[in-house]
Amino acid sequence: MPKLLLANEPLVRIAVFLGILFAMAAWEVAAPRRRQEIPRLLRWTNNLGLVVIDTILVRLTFPIVAVGLALLAEERGWGLLNVFGVPTWLAFVASVIALDLAIYLQHVMFHAVPALWRLHRMHHADLEFDVTTGLRFHPIEIVLSMGIKIAVVAALGPPAVAVLVFEVLLNATAMFNHSNVRIPQGMDRILRWIVVTPDMHRIHHSIHPSETNSNFGFNLPWWDKLLGTYRPQPKEGHDSMTIGIEQFRTGRDLWLDRMLIQPLRGPASGYPINRGGDAK
Ligand SMILES: [Zn+2]
Repeated sequence: MPKLLLANEPLVRIAVFLGILFAMAAWEVAAPRRRQEIPRLLRWTNNLGLVVIDTILVRLTFPIVAVGLALLAEERGWGLLNVFGVPTWLAFVASVIALDLAIYLQHVMFHAVPALWRLHRMHHADLEFDVTTGLRFHPIEIVLSMGIKIAVVAALGPPAVAVLVFEVLLNATAMFNHSNVRIPQGMDRILRWIVVTPDMHRIHHSIHPSETNSNFGFNLPWWDKLLGTYRPQPKEGHDSMTIGIEQFRTGRDLWLDRMLIQPLRGPASGYPINRGGDAK
């Protein structure tokens, strides 16, 4: 099974990506959580255009990506899990959890350091919250993330299949938890034990800095609860809360060219975590 997955890596990635994208889009039409004011065509074409740029850039800038490095590390015995010869099943579980913790910590860091916030705030400047928001990341943030992931893989030595499963899972859960879908409250409460739900992550896209700086998890909901960044509900409620940040609130700001130069525009504003809380 792991060999089959690895041999068909591009196919697995694209099938899960398109499958979840279409499934969530259909779910958003069938049972939307919030009324959307901005035409889907504008946001979707620009957000998906960014996915194409991000994908090409990663392929061009990295001679070896995370899965490839994990394969090499397995072969050569590099990294903690390979050095200690941890049983494969245990290494698999530990790797998926450790990679998720690394992504959580990286996300907190992108909110804490003003220069990194300039890159990450483009993800937050989307004025609606739906499946394509989960794919809207600045190319430089994508490249930095890949660099961090490669460093984690080199140090940890995870099984290559764990890296692939983690990346595919993260892509799927990011699309799921940014979706504008209505999930019954009881179901949401149960799901929150194992996965970040759209209602949990929407709070992270609130205009209020205190809410933006909470619920950093993308995949497992445990880190926010364990490390003190969890917020169960938005103060203004899911229907009336404002999505986005205070800067970049025009329709023109949603265009691809503006998204790309956004890190250079305006001040880093009051959102970075270490600038103190908001009074609002
Ligand atoms: Zn964020």
